[in-house]
Amino acid sequence: MQYVCATEADTERAGREIARMLTPDATVHLIGDLGAGKTFLARAIASELGADPHEVASPSFAIVHEYPRRDAPPVIHIDGYRLSENRREWLEIGIPEILGGPGVKLIEWPKREFEEFEDSHVEVTIRVRDDGAREITVT
Ligand code: ADP
Ligand code: MG
Repeated sequence: MQYVCATEADTERAGREIARMLTPDATVHLIGDLGAGKTFLARAIASELGADPHEVASPSFAIVHEYPRRDAPPVIHIDGYRLSENRREWLEIGIPEILGGPGVKLIEWPKREFEEFEDSHVEVTIRVRDDGAREITVT
């Protein structure tokens, strides 16, 4: 599935649609260059799932953020950007438990190796076109 989003409002709509396709415990890999709109899209998805969009910031300082929801497991937002290749760090942070646990997991800069801790994941790729529009592909 593909969306071409010329404006932030288009991306917001795409995020809400993607959110409605997700199973309750889905893991989503958000792929794209710096500034492509991964955090922007994560905010739209989390908001549609019932989290407070104001809490959704780029998780670059904390590697894991949890956004509470009423009567549902939290939405979890992970930023793998500053995560080292050191498996011990992932284990200390609790990556395997988080990925195997309940709730929707949104991951920016996922590590390939995270796949061994997941049942499966949805891949969302954001490409910035020359005209600035975002091409969002969901597989
Ligand atoms: P990333 O997390 O991929 O590094 P961010 O989501 O933090 O990127 O930033 C994307 C930036 O691009 C935001 O400042 C957002 O306002 C801007 N932007 C402009 N047009 C769009 C669009 N069509 N979709 C998403 N973001 C857009
Ligand atoms: Mg980001």
